[in-house]
Amino acid sequence: MTRARPLAVALLLGVVAALHAEPPSAPDSDPTDLPASVRETAARLRDEALRGTQAYDLVRSLTFEVGPRLAGSRGLGEAVAWGLRTLQRLGFQNVHGEKVMVPHWERGTIAGEILSPWRQPVALAALGGSVGTPEEGIEAEVVEVPSLAALDRLGADRVRGRIVFFDTVMQRTRDGSGYGKAVGVRGSGAARAGKLGALAVLIRSIGTGGSRFPHTGAMHYEAGGPQIPAAALAIPDADLLAAEIASGKPVIFRLKSTSRLLPDVEAANVVGEIAGSETPGEVVLLGAHLDSWDLGTGAIDDAAGCGIVIEAARRIGQLPRHPRRTVRVVLFANEEFGTSGAKAYAQAHAAELPRHVLAGESDLGSGRVWRIQSRVAPDHLPGVAALARLLAPLGVEAGGNEAHGGTDVAPLTPAGVPLLDLDQDATTYFDNHHTANDTLDIVDAKDLDQNVAAWAAVAYAVADLPGDLGRAPAGKPEE
Ligand code: ZN
Ligand code: ZN
Repeated sequence: MTRARPLAVALLLGVVAALHAEPPSAPDSDPTDLPASVRETAARLRDEALRGTQAYDLVRSLTFEVGPRLAGSRGLGEAVAWGLRTLQRLGFQNVHGEKVMVPHWERGTIAGEILSPWRQPVALAALGGSVGTPEEGIEAEVVEVPSLAALDRLGADRVRGRIVFFDTVMQRTRDGSGYGKAVGVRGSGAARAGKLGALAVLIRSIGTGGSRFPHTGAMHYEAGGPQIPAAALAIPDADLLAAEIASGKPVIFRLKSTSRLLPDVEAANVVGEIAGSETPGEVVLLGAHLDSWDLGTGAIDDAAGCGIVIEAARRIGQLPRHPRRTVRVVLFANEEFGTSGAKAYAQAHAAELPRHVLAGESDLGSGRVWRIQSRVAPDHLPGVAALARLLAPLGVEAGGNEAHGGTDVAPLTPAGVPLLDLDQDATTYFDNHHTANDTLDIVDAKDLDQNVAAWAAVAYAVADLPGDLGRAPAGKPEE
């Protein structure tokens, strides 16, 4: 036994020496990879986050202590206060609010009923920004169209004096692209139908759930154009209305709503930083939005994103040495209702945007990150490939160079700010999006941790790179 000991010690020393030795292909010598020190710290941030983070606690705090936080509501004011006090408590620097004007819309109450051929009350919700009906309500025949283009083909004679029902079906996809294809009727259906003389608009909810929770969301009128009420039917209720129409008998619908739009009010984007240790004037921006719709508590949209980016930055701030550049968290005041938070940020920081070296946003609930996409100058794509390799252990695949950056950071595109999308799995996100069912119980804590791992790793790596990601092609990314 004793004779074996020197050999065991020698072996052990050999292992220890091997652990401390540089790997055979020294990464610093590979210009396409991250410097070893950056890569190792980023990988440690990634792996440690997988063991558990505070992201879920942050989502719980925002949804339980504040709850719904619609633009213009008291809830949004409380959310701004929550953001300021939370970033301060977590040790962020330069915590402050930046003024943003936001719409103020009151949902009021709504009721809808199919009167004939078969009488049925339906589950529906006013769209954000909609006017209400006259006090006695609106009672009219329903005309069904599958799309905006089909409405125009129908023409004013078939639309005037009627309620238009947009029966547009949203497709379920992992990349969420079904939403963008379907959402146009929600935004401009009422403006378009109003021009043709319609009295009101109903839409099939833009969502994929089978529940009777209708999906709300923003709509807008054209300046000087007609303003008619607009509401979303829960998906089974849209099926019901479509079936009654398919009977070939005239379908009469009664709608009553007290929604109203009030003058804009003041709110604030909430900003906090992990100050850079060498060039603090250079910024890696991590965004999410503080506002939510009012039917649920905005857990997946977007308390989850707030929890993810706050926690990712906080973990970077806990490192013994901050990265060279500043990591700035921006909790945008108003994404849902006309994106005035994003516009205010881009305007207020215009002079500083040339020193924004990266921007990204988390706004798709707790779905796991499955792909990384960029928008950088082509000669910086090897840097993005290195970031993708960093995320590969999280099950993340490399995507293209057509990132959008998310609604809140997209206005930074014309200034050439490089963008990163960490695409989340959207397969079930739109089942509950903008409904009363958007509550904490549908948020998965482990999936949040995977998101924190990914954002912490890439944000740190870009903030600490000796070089940067250059400037992205300016101009607007294609929709
Ligand atoms: Zn959102
Ligand atoms: Zn939303």
